[in-house]
Amino acid sequence: MTAALAVADVSFAYSGKKALDGLSFTVNAGDCTILLGPNGAGKSTLFALITRLYDTRSGSIQLCGFNIKKQSLQALSRLGVVFQQPTLDMDLTVQQNLRYHAALHGMGGRLAKLRIQEELERFGMYERRSEAVRQLNGGHRRRVEIARALLHKPTLLLLDEPTVGLDVPSRQVIVEHVHELVKQQQMAVLWATHTFDEVYPADRLLILHKGQIKAQGSLPEVLTQTTTTTLHAAFAALTQNGARV
Ligand code: ADP
Ligand code: MG
Repeated sequence: MTAALAVADVSFAYSGKKALDGLSFTVNAGDCTILLGPNGAGKSTLFALITRLYDTRSGSIQLCGFNIKKQSLQALSRLGVVFQQPTLDMDLTVQQNLRYHAALHGMGGRLAKLRIQEELERFGMYERRSEAVRQLNGGHRRRVEIARALLHKPTLLLLDEPTVGLDVPSRQVIVEHVHELVKQQQMAVLWATHTFDEVYPADRLLILHKGQIKAQGSLPEVLTQTTTTTLHAAFAALTQNGARV
């Protein structure tokens, strides 16, 4: 099976200061992989490389077998992304934000309308489609951003700390919906976070600290690797005093 995402020996530095150091991992269809790391670990830098905001100079990244540098169009069309900083246009309505994105992905009017309805309904936001984004609360804005990222049915969904600053019910809705997508549609998800309560037992874990992968695998595998009994303890052991959870 071709991995949805294959990262091989990727390193990256900001003006000589290393932010990522020899990262290698894969995410397959049907995997929800939690990229867990304290602030400054390198999570957003990794996302910037996968989405080609920055150029990888060392190592390679493939999406569904397509190299993001050499076959960028095929690779990037399979990617849906929600960045750490919200990127909706506050003055446009929910629907207008999504229409623009659908057009960028080459969807015609009828298909766009259908997909917008499907994805907004999934997140309980269809009734709010004609409201300006500015009128929505933070949780609802994030739901709209995730719906937008799913419009073109990506194989891989990247989420960079999408629940930071949200209240518990808003977080729960997002966590549950994303896990449902993985289960029902075999979507591949890479979800960056620095908190534990978003981790489901079946998720795969990728623990990043100071630009290096400290452990990866299922929860039982990570516990075995660290000879610990809880994710909290494993994380503390792997990141020591760098942890902020
Ligand atoms: P995370 O998303 O896990 O919090 P980041 O990828 O944002 O981590 O940051 C990783 C490291 O790179 C940190 O040491 C951070 O200070 C540094 N860094 C991030 N963005 C920049 C930038 N634009 N210029 C210089 N250093 C940066
Ligand atoms: Mg970040």
